[in-house]
Amino acid sequence: MIRKDIGSLEAACQRCDGVHPRQDLDRLLWCDACQEAAQRRAAGQGWYVGLAIGVALALWIWLYIQPSNLVIGGWVGTVLAAFYVSARVTREVLYGVERVRGEAAGETAGEAAVEAETPDGPDH
Ligand SMILES: [Zn+2]
Repeated sequence: MIRKDIGSLEAACQRCDGVHPRQDLDRLLWCDACQEAAQRRAAGQGWYVGLAIGVALALWIWLYIQPSNLVIGGWVGTVLAAFYVSARVTREVLYGVERVRGEAAGETAGEAAVEAETPDGPDH
């Protein structure tokens, strides 16, 4: 829900419901703290997923490719790159999903606000 106490200068964050100055909220009406919290959580989960993928890739390389000591550095680099890229991708996807959920909730509130703003008479 969107509160409009002081002419649209303040609005409630869609996540924590705290009232913030409108310019501190982003397009989806999230305050800075909520954006940072969502990014941190997505990043944390992204590292776990990246680690799992990196370990799985390392095991697969170790068991099936059985690299010689000469090229092991290249495979280590490959595993590290896979770890980093999958952590980054997972973070973006998780954060995107969370944002889309927030947007869906925001649409309902937006419709209610549009209804409230419809002028209903000449005494407007
Ligand atoms: Zn918030």
